[in-house]
Amino acid sequence: MRKADQRNYTLGWYVYQVFYLGFLLTNIFPPKLSEEDLSMGKRKSRAKPATKKRMDKLDTVFSCPFCNHGSSVECRIDMKNLIGEATCGICQESFSTTVTALTEPIDIYSEWIDECERVNTYEEEGAE
Ligand SMILES: [Zn+2]
Repeated sequence: MRKADQRNYTLGWYVYQVFYLGFLLTNIFPPKLSEEDLSMGKRKSRAKPATKKRMDKLDTVFSCPFCNHGSSVECRIDMKNLIGEATCGICQESFSTTVTALTEPIDIYSEWIDECERVNTYEEEGAE
């Protein structure tokens, strides 16, 4: 009697363990996870960032902040010396700054404009 009881208990324990293990395994590796992976993959491919369309030709000619000529400022980038230069062909005003490989003519021009604004503000403040 006692022996049989123990055997039953052991069998039940194994059955329980097998089910419990199966339960654990389905929790650790559920089919749900692969579904998630799938949808994640879908989402990933859908969320692929659109490559920014680069302008075919970048502006290298700008209006001069000194003589206000529409297209007299030309920006040049000297990659050897990492110097960017903006020069007005009309009034010969020029501005140069250090550049990096990522600098574009518009960056040099806007830096020049910034510099002009700084000087103007300084002069206005200094006049008082
Ligand atoms: Zn000019």
